[in-house]
Amino acid sequence: MGKEVYFDNHATTPVDPRVVEAMLPYFTEKFGNAASKSHRFGWEAERAVETARRQVAALIGAEAREIVFTSGATESNNLALKGVAERYAGQGDHLITALTEHKAVLDPCRALERRGYRVTYLPVDREGLLDPDDVRKAITPRTILISVMYANNEIGVVQPIAEIGRIAREHGVLFHTDATQAVGKIPVDVNRDAVDLLSLSAHKMYGPKGVGALYVRHRDRQVELAAQMDGGGHERGVRSGTLNVPGIVGLGEACAICQQEMPQEAERLRRLRDRLKTLLESGLEEVYVNGSMERRLPNNLNMSFLYVEADALLVALKDIALSTGSACTSAIPEPSHVLRALHLPEGRAQSAVRFGLGRFNTEEEVDYVAARVIEAVTKLRELSPLYELARGGSPNASGPS
Ligand SMILES: *Cc1c(COP(=O)(O)O)cnc(C)c1O
Repeated sequence: MGKEVYFDNHATTPVDPRVVEAMLPYFTEKFGNAASKSHRFGWEAERAVETARRQVAALIGAEAREIVFTSGATESNNLALKGVAERYAGQGDHLITALTEHKAVLDPCRALERRGYRVTYLPVDREGLLDPDDVRKAITPRTILISVMYANNEIGVVQPIAEIGRIAREHGVLFHTDATQAVGKIPVDVNRDAVDLLSLSAHKMYGPKGVGALYVRHRDRQVELAAQMDGGGHERGVRSGTLNVPGIVGLGEACAICQQEMPQEAERLRRLRDRLKTLLESGLEEVYVNGSMERRLPNNLNMSFLYVEADALLVALKDIALSTGSACTSAIPEPSHVLRALHLPEGRAQSAVRFGLGRFNTEEEVDYVAARVIEAVTKLRELSPLYELARGGSPNASGPS
């Protein structure tokens, strides 16, 4: 008992020891500023940054010069949305996104609305998927940007990105995708998917926190951005600030490892995820998967345990790191905006738990977690009068009436 298990890999991932190893010299002997042009220390740092730029680009089918380093996906999303909105304000004032986006897209959209832009928030179906036709219909002559996430951070569903990309291109509208949960987990290619801007983050793919990148199309179409951070003119003037060299080296190494190991790792995680699902479904009744099972990240499972409050379940499983959807900011537990957008049947959203598997999880852990979840759900249901009623029995009469 008391064994700790980490199944919250959509929130963040541990740094791969190989990534740590690659980063270490850049804190000590190779500490130079990549912008120093007149000595070995600067050149060494710049060389490392350019290697990382190629590693990031290679993972998503981009060119090195199309990669802008940032502090993470939140900054990348802000730079993409606000940067495009400001730069192309002369051509339009309308953006299209989805209701199930991460807060790091929704909040910049709200900020743009306060500045006078208009934003269409498209609904999703019960599986969590966007209909590309809805995107097409939402486009107006004033539309300058479509932003749709690649894979959802709560329910793991993978949106029809290539189809949306094609529609955006047909209409001459720029297309951004928050691919933070997809890059390194499933094949992402900015050319196949007709993506113009793409956000990614190191700490969701076994790299360090506080570093990420924005892909900005340059190869066949010069996408321009209004800088959101002014200063020394780093990153071709788009993102000023001394580069986080150790972090960038870590991001590059994390990308190279993902590229190398993705096919085997995705398969292994899919097998573990499916095993977890099968164990839970055979050990419990009234459990339901939220979001499409067909179009889904291999490492994600989001499951509702009817008649059980997800928060109570997480308390009962304190030594297992799980999540009830996205971190709630208010004191009142409320179903996340993603689960609400699915219009799930009664009781489903409140009982939903997210399982996020990762590189360092084992089959033994899957079996352990499944057993603990089954045990805890069974116990909590025994205490639930609703469950008794639903089963046709009388409410538990052992408590005070
Ligand atoms: C984690 C996450 C973010 C935020 O990334 P940071 O690098 O932590 O800023 C944005 N979008 C999605 C989909 C995420 O999962």
